[in-house]
Amino acid sequence: MSAGVRIFLAGFLLVGPAHSAEDRFAGVEIRSEKMAGSVWALYGRGGTIGASIGEDGILLVDDSYAPLSDKIRRELARLAGANGKIRFIVNTHWHGDHTGGNADFAGTGATIFSQSNVRRRLMTEQQIFERKIDPAPAAAWPIVTFDQGLSFHFNGEEIRVRHLPRGHTDGDAVVQFIGSDVIHAGDLFWNGSFPLVDQRAGGQVAGFLDDVQQIIEMAGPETRIVAGHGPAGDRETLRAWHRRLTAAVAAIHAARQRGLGPQAMLDAGVLADFADLGQGYITPLRFVEFVLQDPPPVE
Ligand SMILES: [Zn+2]
Repeated sequence: MSAGVRIFLAGFLLVGPAHSAEDRFAGVEIRSEKMAGSVWALYGRGGTIGASIGEDGILLVDDSYAPLSDKIRRELARLAGANGKIRFIVNTHWHGDHTGGNADFAGTGATIFSQSNVRRRLMTEQQIFERKIDPAPAAAWPIVTFDQGLSFHFNGEEIRVRHLPRGHTDGDAVVQFIGSDVIHAGDLFWNGSFPLVDQRAGGQVAGFLDDVQQIIEMAGPETRIVAGHGPAGDRETLRAWHRRLTAAVAAIHAARQRGLGPQAMLDAGVLADFADLGQGYITPLRFVEFVLQDPPPVE
């Protein structure tokens, strides 16, 4: 290749469409934390990845963003040594920060599992706030879908996958590693912040709180709980977060009864006790809007 062509290609890469995405992830490191038994949590950017690592190979819960696939692979290889084949991936829901690596890992032999609604949403255009999201490429679509749940028997334990309805989305799955005593809660747990409730994708605030209560009941006193966003916690952490979200929702409902709109609620300090939860992606105003937009209960 001539120097001229090389310079041209280098220039193209700098201005090409891939550049901004690659660059956004250039400084991201993948950090791993042992949960218990065979299960690890991997943190980078976007949703937390869960990994069962053992003699049968690797099962992942979610796979973050595509530009991080190589770094994730390297970290898994470091943890797994010779048993480093990624065999199965469970998507906890359709969002791109949890499914972005699907095509990459499927391309090297992983089989992708999800609740049926996740596949349907990955196949069609979606929208989060004002942002339209293109359908995922066919290589990213889950190969195996389920409605209520399924179990893997892998790395010496049962790994139980259970669908919880109308919470963060309409396709949420929670993954419980029975022997290791670990739960990956997907985006039904944003440890330390208000959660996104994807109401366009069938999520509901009331359903979200019900789902979190179910996860609390699935957990025992020693269970490690991986959060989709934020650090891992335990049953008490999840219970305390659930209690605070429930109180915040009740305060918003009470303020609506008094005739206050979203901004007036914030001006009146309705969420003043919850300011620490509103420092991230979901601001207090967005959370108020989720609660006000919630459809009436189905029951
Ligand atoms: Zn999500």
